[in-house]
Amino acid sequence: MTPFHDKESVRLFLFLGGLVFFLVAELSIPYRPITVSKSRRWVHNLGITFFNSLVLKLCFASLIFASLEYVQKNNIGLLATLSSPRWVKFVATLFVFDFILYLWHRVNHEMPFFWRFHRVHHTDLNMDVSTATRFHIGELTFSAILKIVLIFLLGPTGLGLVIFESTIVLCAQFHHSSVKVPAWFEKLFWILFVPPSMHRIHHSVIIKQRNTNYGTIFSLWDRMGKTFLRDVDQEKIRIGIGAYPHASALTFFALFRMPFTKAVK
Ligand SMILES: [Zn+2]
Repeated sequence: MTPFHDKESVRLFLFLGGLVFFLVAELSIPYRPITVSKSRRWVHNLGITFFNSLVLKLCFASLIFASLEYVQKNNIGLLATLSSPRWVKFVATLFVFDFILYLWHRVNHEMPFFWRFHRVHHTDLNMDVSTATRFHIGELTFSAILKIVLIFLLGPTGLGLVIFESTIVLCAQFHHSSVKVPAWFEKLFWILFVPPSMHRIHHSVIIKQRNTNYGTIFSLWDRMGKTFLRDVDQEKIRIGIGAYPHASALTFFALFRMPFTKAVK
Protein backbone atom coordinates (compact mmCIF):
# COMPACT_ATOMS: atom_id res chain seq x y z
CA MET A 1 0.00 0.00 0.00
CA THR A 2 1.22 3.50 -0.77
CA PRO A 3 1.16 6.23 1.91
CA PHE A 4 -1.80 7.72 0.01
CA HIS A 5 -3.79 4.49 0.34
CA ASP A 6 -2.86 4.32 4.04
CA LYS A 7 -4.30 7.80 4.51
CA GLU A 8 -7.40 6.84 2.55
CA SER A 9 -7.92 3.89 4.93
CA VAL A 10 -7.57 6.19 7.95
CA ARG A 11 -10.23 8.47 6.46
CA LEU A 12 -12.57 5.54 5.81
CA PHE A 13 -12.02 4.24 9.33
CA LEU A 14 -12.82 7.69 10.82
CA PHE A 15 -15.93 8.03 8.63
CA LEU A 16 -17.31 4.62 9.66
CA GLY A 17 -16.27 5.16 13.29
CA GLY A 18 -18.05 8.54 13.35
CA LEU A 19 -21.14 7.07 11.68
CA VAL A 20 -21.49 4.31 14.28
CA PHE A 21 -20.56 6.57 17.21
CA PHE A 22 -23.10 9.29 16.37
CA LEU A 23 -25.80 6.75 15.43
CA VAL A 24 -25.49 5.11 18.86
CA ALA A 25 -25.45 8.56 20.52
CA GLU A 26 -28.58 9.66 18.57
CA LEU A 27 -30.46 6.52 19.51
CA SER A 28 -29.39 6.76 23.17
CA ILE A 29 -29.86 10.51 23.76
CA PRO A 30 -31.90 11.91 20.84
CA TYR A 31 -32.34 15.67 20.50
CA ARG A 32 -35.99 15.33 19.46
CA PRO A 33 -38.40 12.65 18.20
CA ILE A 34 -38.18 11.73 14.54
CA THR A 35 -41.02 12.81 12.21
CA VAL A 36 -40.26 10.41 9.32
CA SER A 37 -38.96 6.84 9.31
CA LYS A 38 -35.25 6.76 10.17
CA SER A 39 -34.65 3.42 8.47
CA ARG A 40 -36.26 4.67 5.24
CA ARG A 41 -34.10 7.83 5.25
CA TRP A 42 -31.01 5.80 6.02
CA VAL A 43 -31.55 3.46 3.06
CA HIS A 44 -31.58 6.46 0.69
CA ASN A 45 -28.88 8.48 2.46
CA LEU A 46 -26.44 5.57 2.74
CA GLY A 47 -27.25 4.54 -0.84
CA ILE A 48 -26.29 8.05 -2.00
CA THR A 49 -23.15 8.01 0.17
CA PHE A 50 -22.01 4.65 -1.20
CA PHE A 51 -22.77 5.62 -4.82
CA ASN A 52 -20.90 8.94 -4.43
CA SER A 53 -17.84 7.29 -2.85
CA LEU A 54 -17.65 4.84 -5.73
CA VAL A 55 -17.94 7.50 -8.46
CA LEU A 56 -15.45 9.83 -6.75
CA LYS A 57 -12.97 6.99 -6.27
CA LEU A 58 -13.23 5.93 -9.91
CA CYS A 59 -13.16 9.42 -11.44
CA PHE A 60 -11.16 11.67 -9.13
CA ALA A 61 -9.00 9.74 -6.61
CA SER A 62 -6.06 9.20 -9.01
CA LEU A 63 -6.33 12.72 -10.39
CA ILE A 64 -6.21 14.23 -6.88
CA PHE A 65 -3.30 11.95 -5.94
CA ALA A 66 -1.39 12.89 -9.11
CA SER A 67 -2.04 16.61 -8.51
CA LEU A 68 -0.73 16.35 -4.94
CA GLU A 69 2.40 14.52 -6.11
CA TYR A 70 3.00 17.05 -8.88
CA VAL A 71 2.71 20.16 -6.68
CA GLN A 72 4.94 18.62 -4.00
CA LYS A 73 7.63 17.59 -6.45
CA ASN A 74 7.64 21.02 -8.08
CA ASN A 75 7.09 23.13 -4.95
CA ILE A 76 3.95 24.71 -6.36
CA GLY A 77 1.40 26.64 -4.30
CA LEU A 78 1.26 29.20 -1.51
CA LEU A 79 1.71 26.76 1.40
CA ALA A 80 4.57 24.94 -0.32
CA THR A 81 6.57 28.17 -0.57
CA LEU A 82 6.24 28.96 3.18
CA SER A 83 9.36 28.08 5.16
CA SER A 84 7.44 27.32 8.37
CA PRO A 85 7.30 24.13 10.48
CA ARG A 86 5.00 21.34 9.31
CA TRP A 87 2.45 21.87 12.09
CA VAL A 88 2.06 25.54 11.07
CA LYS A 89 1.33 24.34 7.52
CA PHE A 90 -1.29 21.85 8.83
CA VAL A 91 -3.03 24.59 10.83
CA ALA A 92 -2.84 26.95 7.83
CA THR A 93 -4.32 24.22 5.59
CA LEU A 94 -7.20 23.75 8.05
CA PHE A 95 -7.99 27.48 8.20
CA VAL A 96 -7.56 28.28 4.49
CA PHE A 97 -9.51 25.24 3.24
CA ASP A 98 -12.28 25.75 5.81
CA PHE A 99 -12.62 29.41 4.75
CA ILE A 100 -12.87 28.39 1.09
CA LEU A 101 -15.42 25.73 2.03
CA TYR A 102 -17.46 28.48 3.72
CA LEU A 103 -17.37 30.58 0.51
CA TRP A 104 -18.19 27.55 -1.64
CA HIS A 105 -21.16 26.69 0.59
CA ARG A 106 -22.44 30.28 0.20
CA VAL A 107 -22.10 30.02 -3.58
CA ASN A 108 -24.15 26.82 -3.45
CA HIS A 109 -26.97 28.74 -1.77
CA GLU A 110 -26.73 32.06 -3.56
CA MET A 111 -26.28 30.97 -7.18
CA PRO A 112 -29.44 29.29 -8.55
CA PHE A 113 -27.48 26.86 -10.76
CA PHE A 114 -25.52 25.42 -7.82
CA TRP A 115 -28.57 25.52 -5.53
CA ARG A 116 -30.26 23.05 -7.91
CA PHE A 117 -27.70 20.47 -6.73
CA HIS A 118 -27.20 21.57 -3.12
CA ARG A 119 -30.96 21.49 -2.41
CA VAL A 120 -30.73 17.66 -2.47
CA HIS A 121 -28.80 17.89 0.81
CA HIS A 122 -31.40 20.24 2.30
CA THR A 123 -34.46 18.15 1.39
CA ASP A 124 -33.79 15.72 4.24
CA LEU A 125 -36.83 16.04 6.51
CA ASN A 126 -34.97 15.06 9.67
CA MET A 127 -31.34 15.72 10.41
CA ASP A 128 -29.02 13.05 11.69
CA VAL A 129 -25.52 11.72 11.08
CA SER A 130 -26.59 10.22 7.72
CA THR A 131 -27.50 13.73 6.43
CA ALA A 132 -23.80 14.68 6.63
CA THR A 133 -22.98 12.75 3.45
CA ARG A 134 -26.29 13.12 1.56
CA PHE A 135 -25.09 15.20 -1.41
CA HIS A 136 -25.81 15.06 -5.11
CA ILE A 137 -22.90 13.64 -7.10
CA GLY A 138 -23.05 16.78 -9.30
CA GLU A 139 -22.23 18.99 -6.32
CA LEU A 140 -19.40 16.65 -5.27
CA THR A 141 -18.01 16.70 -8.82
CA PHE A 142 -17.84 20.52 -8.75
CA SER A 143 -16.22 20.27 -5.30
CA ALA A 144 -13.62 17.79 -6.58
CA ILE A 145 -12.71 20.11 -9.48
CA LEU A 146 -12.42 23.01 -7.02
CA LYS A 147 -10.21 20.84 -4.81
CA ILE A 148 -7.79 20.14 -7.67
CA VAL A 149 -7.59 23.87 -8.50
CA LEU A 150 -6.88 24.60 -4.80
CA ILE A 151 -4.18 21.94 -4.65
CA PHE A 152 -2.35 23.84 -7.40
CA LEU A 153 -2.96 27.26 -5.85
CA LEU A 154 -2.15 26.34 -2.25
CA GLY A 155 0.12 23.28 -2.49
CA PRO A 156 -0.98 21.43 0.68
CA THR A 157 0.77 18.22 1.71
CA GLY A 158 -1.14 14.94 1.29
CA LEU A 159 -1.19 14.55 5.08
CA GLY A 160 -2.46 18.12 5.54
CA LEU A 161 -5.30 17.48 3.12
CA VAL A 162 -6.25 14.16 4.74
CA ILE A 163 -6.23 15.78 8.21
CA PHE A 164 -8.49 18.55 6.86
CA GLU A 165 -10.87 16.14 5.15
CA SER A 166 -11.09 13.84 8.18
CA THR A 167 -11.79 16.84 10.42
CA ILE A 168 -14.48 18.01 7.98
CA VAL A 169 -16.20 14.60 7.99
CA LEU A 170 -16.21 14.31 11.79
CA CYS A 171 -17.36 17.93 12.28
CA ALA A 172 -20.13 17.48 9.68
CA GLN A 173 -21.25 14.21 11.30
CA PHE A 174 -21.36 15.94 14.69
CA HIS A 175 -23.28 19.05 13.64
CA HIS A 176 -25.79 17.10 11.54
CA SER A 177 -26.40 14.55 14.28
CA SER A 178 -29.56 14.61 16.33
CA VAL A 179 -27.79 14.17 19.66
CA LYS A 180 -28.90 16.03 22.75
CA VAL A 181 -25.78 17.98 23.66
CA PRO A 182 -25.55 19.70 27.09
CA ALA A 183 -26.48 23.41 26.77
CA TRP A 184 -23.24 24.58 28.42
CA PHE A 185 -21.18 22.60 25.88
CA GLU A 186 -23.11 24.04 22.91
CA LYS A 187 -22.65 27.57 24.30
CA LEU A 188 -18.88 27.10 24.56
CA PHE A 189 -18.67 25.37 21.19
CA TRP A 190 -20.49 28.25 19.43
CA ILE A 191 -17.61 30.59 20.31
CA LEU A 192 -15.16 28.94 17.90
CA PHE A 193 -16.87 26.00 16.23
CA VAL A 194 -20.17 24.79 14.74
CA PRO A 195 -22.41 22.84 17.16
CA PRO A 196 -25.62 20.99 16.05
CA SER A 197 -27.86 23.91 17.11
CA MET A 198 -25.99 26.29 14.79
CA HIS A 199 -26.26 23.97 11.79
CA ARG A 200 -29.89 23.10 12.61
CA ILE A 201 -30.79 26.74 11.87
CA HIS A 202 -29.08 26.31 8.46
CA HIS A 203 -31.43 23.38 7.69
CA SER A 204 -34.61 25.33 8.54
CA VAL A 205 -37.42 25.51 5.96
CA ILE A 206 -37.43 29.30 6.51
CA ILE A 207 -35.23 30.66 3.72
CA LYS A 208 -33.96 33.61 5.78
CA GLN A 209 -32.69 31.18 8.42
CA ARG A 210 -31.37 28.72 5.84
CA ASN A 211 -29.14 31.33 4.24
CA THR A 212 -27.01 31.68 7.39
CA ASN A 213 -24.51 29.58 9.38
CA TYR A 214 -22.56 28.17 6.43
CA GLY A 215 -19.47 27.18 8.45
CA THR A 216 -18.19 23.62 8.74
CA ILE A 217 -15.33 23.67 11.27
CA PHE A 218 -15.03 27.27 12.51
CA SER A 219 -17.89 29.69 13.26
CA LEU A 220 -15.49 32.58 12.62
CA TRP A 221 -16.25 32.88 8.90
CA ASP A 222 -19.99 33.37 9.50
CA ARG A 223 -19.21 36.10 12.04
CA MET A 224 -16.90 37.81 9.55
CA GLY A 225 -19.28 37.33 6.61
CA LYS A 226 -22.33 38.59 8.58
CA THR A 227 -24.15 35.29 8.01
CA PHE A 228 -24.09 34.31 11.69
CA LEU A 229 -27.50 33.60 13.28
CA ARG A 230 -28.03 32.37 16.82
CA ASP A 231 -31.27 33.77 18.24
CA VAL A 232 -33.74 31.25 16.89
CA ASP A 233 -36.14 29.13 18.93
CA GLN A 234 -34.63 25.68 18.36
CA GLU A 235 -37.86 23.91 19.31
CA LYS A 236 -39.72 25.61 16.44
CA ILE A 237 -37.23 24.81 13.65
CA ARG A 238 -38.77 22.67 10.91
CA ILE A 239 -36.12 20.85 8.84
CA GLY A 240 -36.23 20.58 5.05
CA ILE A 241 -37.37 22.58 2.03
CA GLY A 242 -40.99 23.78 1.92
CA ALA A 243 -41.54 22.49 -1.63
CA TYR A 244 -40.60 18.90 -0.67
CA PRO A 245 -42.69 17.98 2.40
CA HIS A 246 -43.25 14.27 1.60
CA ALA A 247 -40.66 11.65 2.52
CA SER A 248 -42.17 9.18 0.03
CA ALA A 249 -41.13 11.47 -2.87
CA LEU A 250 -37.50 11.74 -1.68
CA THR A 251 -36.09 8.45 -2.92
CA PHE A 252 -32.55 7.78 -4.21
CA PHE A 253 -33.67 8.13 -7.85
CA ALA A 254 -35.87 11.19 -7.23
CA LEU A 255 -32.94 12.89 -5.50
CA PHE A 256 -30.64 11.95 -8.37
CA ARG A 257 -33.02 13.61 -10.87
CA MET A 258 -33.82 16.62 -8.68
CA PRO A 259 -31.22 19.13 -10.06
CA PHE A 260 -32.70 18.66 -13.54
CA THR A 261 -36.31 19.30 -12.45
CA LYS A 262 -38.01 22.66 -11.86
CA ALA A 263 -36.16 25.33 -9.90
CA VAL A 264 -37.22 25.64 -6.27
CA LYS A 265 -36.19 28.23 -3.69
ZN1 LIG B 1 -26.37 24.34 2.85
